[in-house]
Amino acid sequence: MLAVIQTDTAQSGFDTHSVDNQPPEYVIRDLWAADPALREAVAEEGGGRFEAQLADYGRIAGGELYRLSWDAHRDRPRLRTHDRFGHRIDRVEFHPAYHRIMEAAIGHGVAGLSWAPQTWGGGADGAHVARAALSYLHHQVEPGTSCPLTMTHAAVPALRREPALREWAEKAAAPYYDPGDAPIAGKAGVTIGMGMTEKQGGSDVRSNASTAMPVSGGDTYRLVGHKWFFSAPMCDGFLVLAQAPGGLTCLLMPRQLLDGARNSFRVMRLKDKLGDWSNASSEVELTGAHAYRVGAEGRGVAVIIEMVMLTRLDCMLGSAAEMRMALTQAVHHCRHRRAFGRTLFEQPLMRNVLADLVLESEAATRFALRVAGAVDRAPHDAHEAGFARVATAIGKYWICKRAPAFVNEAQECLGGAGYVEESMLPRLYRQAPLNSIWEGSGNIQCLDVLRALQREPAATGALRAELSSAMGRDSAFDAWVASITNDLTVLLAQDFDAVQAASRSLVERLALALQAAVLLRSGTPLADAFCRSRLGGARGCVYGTLSATIDTGMVLARMGCE
Ligand SMILES: Cc1cc2nc3c(=O)[nH]c(=O)nc-3n(C[C@H](O)[C@H](O)[C@H](O)COP(=O)(O)OP(=O)(O)OC[C@H]3O[C@@H](n4cnc5c(N)ncnc54)[C@H](O)[C@@H]3O)c2cc1C
Repeated sequence: MLAVIQTDTAQSGFDTHSVDNQPPEYVIRDLWAADPALREAVAEEGGGRFEAQLADYGRIAGGELYRLSWDAHRDRPRLRTHDRFGHRIDRVEFHPAYHRIMEAAIGHGVAGLSWAPQTWGGGADGAHVARAALSYLHHQVEPGTSCPLTMTHAAVPALRREPALREWAEKAAAPYYDPGDAPIAGKAGVTIGMGMTEKQGGSDVRSNASTAMPVSGGDTYRLVGHKWFFSAPMCDGFLVLAQAPGGLTCLLMPRQLLDGARNSFRVMRLKDKLGDWSNASSEVELTGAHAYRVGAEGRGVAVIIEMVMLTRLDCMLGSAAEMRMALTQAVHHCRHRRAFGRTLFEQPLMRNVLADLVLESEAATRFALRVAGAVDRAPHDAHEAGFARVATAIGKYWICKRAPAFVNEAQECLGGAGYVEESMLPRLYRQAPLNSIWEGSGNIQCLDVLRALQREPAATGALRAELSSAMGRDSAFDAWVASITNDLTVLLAQDFDAVQAASRSLVERLALALQAAVLLRSGTPLADAFCRSRLGGARGCVYGTLSATIDTGMVLARMGCE
């Protein structure tokens, strides 16, 4: 008898019970191969020739980077303002995992593939789509590093405006990560941050009070003031807004000067944030920092908006990625956990919840990739340029708003385990609200949509054409589009102030219509279920309320586990 008890104890590690009915560890996996919606969307949007690079990064992100992400997230960055001798150093220290993740991402084009023909065959058709897919794969495992990666990517068009800053543009697109303290000449690659938000205003950047005073009449300025949110302060350079004599102006502020001295700005403290822990977000004071003008004086908003359009695209890709990872974790758990005699995955009500999440996730992924395709084609296609303009704001609003409730629902699929850090769901849950707050919060996106529709005929025309292109395939979609088209005509004829309050409801309906249009045109088996549930009323307000007419088995087959 004694021998039996000893054997049980040895196997379970307990002498009171054996460990049973727990799912196996979520195994490291190939995020590209496991995601048919992503692969199909990349091919449809013209990124197919980058498939080998994406497959490669899917394995790295789902393998090594997933493993490292735990340390990068848990061991939060620390600010060291002074060295032991009292010299000011303003250095943020990260766990080595953070640097390895940045190195892998930059080396594989997460920040640069769109721009660099000589490295990855980038800068050509499909490159934005492929880079967007890389960003989506990356964000699933380590969203904190996505912040400096997306800012570095998005800064390149602005830097390219100024011939004197060509080296900055080239090195921001280069496949090298160098976190050291050195001036640009000593680096093969650089990272770029962004400083707009000040204490008195973030959405309203025109209220920026920091000043930029020209030095001896050239293109060099000295910056005095502050930035209230300033993420990734260890970047090599920052695009900042400040008031120059000619008005609000965009400037590039390097961290190190050409002679190797630190530039004159101080990192005052790091923000103690809800989530996004691996990313350092700081407050800085500008104490006469040297900066180079980017674009004309007074054109700061126009210059930085070019950058922000791209970071907004990455917000929607990021939220879609968070949904995808949360869903993957939920399905993994439900397939192995049993309750009341069968697995959770086999329980009809849980199947309804999971199927609803699958529909939402695929619609988010495909819509974000559709916008990336439009960004790719925009330089030589007026329809796509108009579409990218308005769909970026619509998608940024909608997909980023959907993520927190989605992640919470996926978390609940794991029961109590989903509230425990080791499951990854708490990390995703803390991250989820951020994309809808920064880069222009929800209301700002809705007002931007309204402004584009009222003032930019190319954007309105592109939106209408996009919706028309999917007509005739689904009666619920056709009825939905007819109703919005009517409302649009009425709304757009009114004064901007009179219709502001209705803009969220308008943008929500447009977003659902655009998601449905993308799904219908793609031929995905989920299109019908999406249209019936989201447009045809076969659903309630929370996830898991699909009507019985929807074939959940067919929807769940998209996760490769039916
Ligand atoms: C973790 C983190 C990191 C960040 N990193 C950076 C960074 O690196 N660089 C940078 O420049 N900024 C950064 N930000 C700042 C971020 O971009 C701003 O917080 C955001 O743009 C909102 O600005 P605000 O905080 O001043 O809010 P406010 O502008 O005060 O807005 C508050 C709320 O009012 C709403 N609102 C504003 N105007 C209107 C209106 N006319 N009608 C209706 N509603 C309105 C907004 O949508 C928002 O919901 C970061 C923020 C966070 C949380």
